[in-house]
Amino acid sequence: MKTLEEIGLGIPGASSRGAPVTPVDFDFAVAGSGAAGAATAARLAAGGARTLLLEQGTTARPQADGRAALSLYYANSGLTAAFGNGLYPVAVGRTLGGTTTINSGTCLRTPREMLLRWRLRAPGFDPDAFQGRLEEAWTAVKAKPVPERLLGQSARLFFRGLGRLGLPPASALDRAEDRCRGDGRCCFVCPSDAKVTAKSAFLDPMARDARLTVWPGARLTRVTPGRPPSLEVSREGGRRLRLRARAVVLSCGALATPYFLRGLGLRAGRDLTIHPASKVFALFDEPVRGWQGVPQSAGWLDEREPRLRFEGAFVPPEVAPLTMPLEGRRLRWWLDRYDNVASFGFMARDLSRGRVGYPLGPSLPLLRYDLEPDDARLLARGMRRVASVYFAAGARRVLLPLNRPDNELESAGALEDFPWDSVRPWQIQLMGFHPLGTCGLGRALGADLKAADGLYVCDGSVIPESLGVNPQITIYAFALDLAARLLEGGRAR
Ligand SMILES: Cc1cc2nc3c(=O)[nH]c(=O)nc-3n(C[C@H](O)[C@H](O)[C@H](O)COP(=O)(O)OP(=O)(O)OC[C@H]3O[C@@H](n4cnc5c(N)ncnc54)[C@H](O)[C@@H]3O)c2cc1C
Ligand code: SF4
Repeated sequence: MKTLEEIGLGIPGASSRGAPVTPVDFDFAVAGSGAAGAATAARLAAGGARTLLLEQGTTARPQADGRAALSLYYANSGLTAAFGNGLYPVAVGRTLGGTTTINSGTCLRTPREMLLRWRLRAPGFDPDAFQGRLEEAWTAVKAKPVPERLLGQSARLFFRGLGRLGLPPASALDRAEDRCRGDGRCCFVCPSDAKVTAKSAFLDPMARDARLTVWPGARLTRVTPGRPPSLEVSREGGRRLRLRARAVVLSCGALATPYFLRGLGLRAGRDLTIHPASKVFALFDEPVRGWQGVPQSAGWLDEREPRLRFEGAFVPPEVAPLTMPLEGRRLRWWLDRYDNVASFGFMARDLSRGRVGYPLGPSLPLLRYDLEPDDARLLARGMRRVASVYFAAGARRVLLPLNRPDNELESAGALEDFPWDSVRPWQIQLMGFHPLGTCGLGRALGADLKAADGLYVCDGSVIPESLGVNPQITIYAFALDLAARLLEGGRAR
């Protein structure tokens, strides 16, 4: 793997502010080093192609304080949000490895029925071949179930509550990890590098391979389709370069990629889904110490709610104030007892759709998302379910993710009496961790993911419907598939 310094472009004078520089030829240029970009670039290079990988962020280092990680490695310091009938934060990463660096590591395969639907949407999409790519991705990220000892007490209490209610059991989730110690900080950069990210799975093994050039701190600013397409790149410090490649792959993520497709007449930037997610806090008499173990260790499905997935969720104490729907003395009261607080999350396969635009430029996407009443009711049922399970497990008090003063309840009876019909979308404290769909397969793109001459799209934006499962394995699979097809195309030429 080479840096641009090593190929001569880091030398002062090799480029000048504002002026185009000597074109450099690559076989492929990939913009964005997240799940899709890192996997695509590494596979292209391993297949013999001279490949350039651009990433606007830099390499992430573990931070002692979760808030520092938020401001350093989350896009816009974690403050990206969708506006609509509420204010809904949407988190994405901005670092080498993309959002996988700050994700929870959970691995789930694309539901088979979706793959069959995608074949109808995009003729040429092959569900069986894609299934093979899912397995390849699964192996590459070393996905395996969370061991019992790392489940964490939040999950064990959830298991206990399910058992007491006579509900089907939850199970350990599969995760991308290698020697995880249960430090509980996956979303703030794993301190022991145990979580397997796009960087560790795909880029690190290519570290000595000269066919891959990785350029952190380099932002794609413009791409012009053609034969060959050309790119303009802005490097930290303001220097700009113009580059050529036989083909360009846009992997900037579902919130950034549509920017580059404007003007191509594609349906890009619309149909945004986010998997609206939330969590319930519960106070127990016994110590929980939820930060010990894997935060997102267990998953559960409620057979009556096929659009909901329940998954563990716990944030370190210093980040908790940002995620509790409380302020002042009530917030202080919960934080003083955080040792004994458990939490468990849930997310919806959303019917709601949003869109992304760029009135303030590409780095500050403006998101619009209106939570449909059906989704709001579903999320309300999700929080009610988690609260009831924790009460069954022995919780003294629960905190519902609702921005309203009656959000604390002291008994399962109070849960029954709660005025659920009065819950409004803007009162629900939710977040989107999985923005998808803004350049959907079968809408903006065909099965070949080609947007224009020499220009391809591969990231969460291509997933054409709300997936209902955590998306990284699906995105990796799209990347492995595209890389194989691009290499095949090159050989055919
Ligand atoms: C807190 C959190 C927890 C999550 N947990 C899970 C989980 O447990 N399991 C799971 O499956 N998924 C999880 N996800 C989601 C998952 O990580 C993402 O869906 C996935 O990484 C998206 O991959 P991508 O390739 O589409 O984009 P990303 O991984 O977001 O990568 C895009 C990259 O492109 C870069 N970029 C953008 N614009 C430019 C530009 N102009 N020039 C150069 N570079 C650019 C960005 O900086 C970024 O690094 C989680 C997400 C979050 C936020
Ligand atoms: S639980 Fe800790 S050690 Fe395991 S992946 Fe997460 S941060 Fe890393």
